[in-house]
Amino acid sequence: MIRLENASKVYKTHRGEVRALDGVSLEIEEGEFTVIRGPSGSGKSTILMCAGGMARPTSGKITVCGKDLYTMSPGDRAHFRAQNVGFVFQMFHLVPYLTALENAMLPLLAANTNGGRGEAERLLDHFGMSGRKSHKPAELSAGERQRVAMARALLNKPRLLLADEPTGNLDPENTRQIMDYLAEFHRGGGTVVVVTHANQAEEYARRVLVLRDGRIESETRRPAQ
Ligand code: ADP
Ligand code: MG
Repeated sequence: MIRLENASKVYKTHRGEVRALDGVSLEIEEGEFTVIRGPSGSGKSTILMCAGGMARPTSGKITVCGKDLYTMSPGDRAHFRAQNVGFVFQMFHLVPYLTALENAMLPLLAANTNGGRGEAERLLDHFGMSGRKSHKPAELSAGERQRVAMARALLNKPRLLLADEPTGNLDPENTRQIMDYLAEFHRGGGTVVVVTHANQAEEYARRVLVLRDGRIESETRRPAQ
């Protein structure tokens, strides 16, 4: 489903080069639930962005669902991403002046695919947000904002969900809730890659990758129970 071949990402800054990813090779199968851990600055967000078609690696090749992501045109890549990949972020990244429902419907602007207002409403209902659809992000709790972001990520029924510290700003109760929603997506056949330090992640993940200095430092695999 995801294949990185010797992928490196170098950021050039005024203080020199930062090698955020350093020749990573990795394969993630369809239907896997993978957790990525590692210290701050180890390249966790970078690897997700590269795998999700949001950041071109400086060298190496990244294939998702059999497609070489960075030989596609930007338009094709955006379309591919909108159809196949959902993203969830620590800081939610909601549009402040749109309501919960409008935020959840945002992917419709990017991809004219299945789903729509009805699907956005269904997802918000499912996430316990029935009474909050016309609220703006500032009128929602952190947990509620992340549930809107989850609805947005799932609207186009992606095959792959990439989540970058999705519970980093949440209390234990909301953390459990979001992890349960990730697990539910996974049970439905979805592939999940989540950067998280939440302990609950260990319950679901068959595979834990630890990054350090842009490389995979260690990897643990557990057989399915
Ligand atoms: P993590 O998510 O594990 O904290 P990141 O992937 O965000 O790490 O960053 C990896 C390294 O790349 C860090 O040293 C960070 O400072 C650097 N970095 C990330 N994004 C940029 C950028 N846009 N420009 C320059 N350096 C960056
Ligand atoms: Mg990060």
